[in-house]
Amino acid sequence: MAAISAASQGDAVRGERPQSSLDLLVHVSRELASALDLRLILERVIKLCLQNVGGSSGSIIVLDDQGQPIDSIIVVKDKVIQETTEQLKFTLQDGLAGWVRKNRQPALVTDTSLDGRWQATPGGKQSGPKSVVAAPLLARERLVGVLTLTNPEPGLFTEEHLALVKIIGEQAAFAVLNARLYAESQRNAGIMTAIAESASAINASLQLDQVLQTILEQTTQALEVEAVSLALLDAAGESLAFRAATGKRSKQVIGMQVQLGQGIAGWVAQHGSGVLVPDAQADPRFYAAVDELTGYKTQAVACVPIRARGNVIGVIEALNPSDGVFDTTDLPVLDGIGTLAGTAIEHAQLFAQMESARTRYRELFEDSIDAIFVTDMQGNIAEANRQAELWIGFDENSLHSMNVHHFHQADYKALGADMAYLRDGRAVSYESVLQGQSNAQIDVEVFVHSIVVEGQEQLQWILRDITERKRLDQLREDLASMIYHDLRSPLANVVSGLDVLQMMLPADQDPTIRSVLDIAMRSTERVQRLANSLLDTSRMEAGQRIGNPEPTSVADIIQAALEATGPGAQSKEIHLQAAVVKGLVKAMVDAEMIRRVLINLIENALKYSSKGQTITVAAKRSGDFIEMSVQDQGRGIPKGDLERIFEKFARVQVGATGNTKGLGLGLAYCKLAVEGHGGKIWVESELGKGSRFVFTLPIARTGELK
Ligand code: ADP
Repeated sequence: MAAISAASQGDAVRGERPQSSLDLLVHVSRELASALDLRLILERVIKLCLQNVGGSSGSIIVLDDQGQPIDSIIVVKDKVIQETTEQLKFTLQDGLAGWVRKNRQPALVTDTSLDGRWQATPGGKQSGPKSVVAAPLLARERLVGVLTLTNPEPGLFTEEHLALVKIIGEQAAFAVLNARLYAESQRNAGIMTAIAESASAINASLQLDQVLQTILEQTTQALEVEAVSLALLDAAGESLAFRAATGKRSKQVIGMQVQLGQGIAGWVAQHGSGVLVPDAQADPRFYAAVDELTGYKTQAVACVPIRARGNVIGVIEALNPSDGVFDTTDLPVLDGIGTLAGTAIEHAQLFAQMESARTRYRELFEDSIDAIFVTDMQGNIAEANRQAELWIGFDENSLHSMNVHHFHQADYKALGADMAYLRDGRAVSYESVLQGQSNAQIDVEVFVHSIVVEGQEQLQWILRDITERKRLDQLREDLASMIYHDLRSPLANVVSGLDVLQMMLPADQDPTIRSVLDIAMRSTERVQRLANSLLDTSRMEAGQRIGNPEPTSVADIIQAALEATGPGAQSKEIHLQAAVVKGLVKAMVDAEMIRRVLINLIENALKYSSKGQTITVAAKRSGDFIEMSVQDQGRGIPKGDLERIFEKFARVQVGATGNTKGLGLGLAYCKLAVEGHGGKIWVESELGKGSRFVFTLPIARTGELK
């Protein structure tokens, strides 16, 4: 059938026997099913009609869902005539096609000169009466077009031809509908592809300038335009500042500001929706000042908002498409780019903020005068700052394979086994010595605390150089020792001077003078004891050995201590007694130091006892030691303070008005002195009932060398 020639068309029309309907149906549907391009389908439909029904020319007007023409074709004797929609509009308005559209019925006009539905085109040449058939293209009640066939002579088309045209029309309607859907899906696919391509390019960077540049490039490519510019809203949301632009005028455009509502860009930012402006110069929103400034002629503009999390943050403007007009897909594509741009710009801005915060902290970390390490919970180094590298003498990479204990003695008593005391964000500090690679040693104070980095617990170690502080401490201690030392001889002179004075006093002298002299004497002796104890303390703290240990009678020491404290006890009306086991072996001690220990303990007991109470000083043997004790019936010591009172400067407050006189140095001295002899000191006490201070001293072995 496809082989039917133009010459035989007349036969078909004169049509003794037109094609069987069924054959035709099969043929038409096969022909149409193999095409998806609308123009091709229209052409095939008309050619099939001309071949199978007859006629010299045919036309199809394609209608949208509102019945408006969107495409059309005219075929005259196998030749396709382009650009026909305008021409066919007329027949759609006033002619036969209009009647078919309106009535959704096929029409047979056997003689055009006799039928009012036929109107010749106003400018078309009158070629005499013809016969015409026209049918609606109906796909399931949906009118998608009108098909018309024309024969140059009247009376050639019959009802039979009309029936054939109707059949072809029904088939053609589905093909046209499919082609329209296909074209639409192609269009959408095109938009999606353009946006997807832009998406991967735009999201490829986090640097704001680069992101803006990519947005411009993607827009230029996707829309094929001469120039693109991008403006961002200021924080107050009042004005747009152009941040990036392409094209000849880009230099002048960048940095320019327009107010919200001003120009097309300002309008889009204000209304939050995109626009296509085919003729910018004729649009009242157009802001001509920019063109005047740049000398550029804006013709068509497509402009969309850039949104981030629902808010407009700027606009993208595309100017002058290369073929002069924007097509229908351009606005949705640009809109898609606008949405992508919003997220990408926001990410880049957040990234920039994060980077600057990171840089700030990095600088703090790097420039710190303290050495700082970040380690895992086992102390393996993850990060170290410049000062740490400098002190230890390793670069950061080498430090990564090290543990903090490689260069300093970690205080595991403070840190706990497995850093247990550092868990849950607690902090610990201790003093240590940092051992650098070059054998340099730095006294450091170490502050350690746990931090959480990216959900993982880590340790931060800050090492502070305390060399200078240590030096000053040492200086102060040396100075103090020197003073205590130098005080001794003038004090000894005063004591002996007072002694001589006392001896020279005549027996019948006024007793007041004697008692004043006694007070002066006892006070001076106290100062002397204090100076000696302080000197001993600083010496022992510096690790020096006990001065002068020799076998000494403990009873003698007790006797001497009681003599020194007796007058004080008397004036407070407190009973002082000694309980020394008879025949007690000698102790190997520096008698003067232990005398001062005992006096300290007795003076404390006196301080915290009341009138009428008794203080007992006792001594007995206990294995290789002599155990001495001072027991009072005074206020006692709270349980929690029993160990603490032996620390330097430890004072105990009992009750709101408790006696807190003194420096808290006495017991610290006692502890150092006793432990320096190899003994121990402790206290047993019950609040309100009294205390018993006990200490042990090594016995002197017979034949033992000093
Ligand atoms: P100081 O007496 O100079 O304050 P010490 O080191 O001698 O310093 O004593 C430390 C603290 O121990 C005293 O402040 C006091 O609170 C407590 N203390 C010492 N001895 C006794 C005692 N016998 N009874 C009650 N408290 C005592």
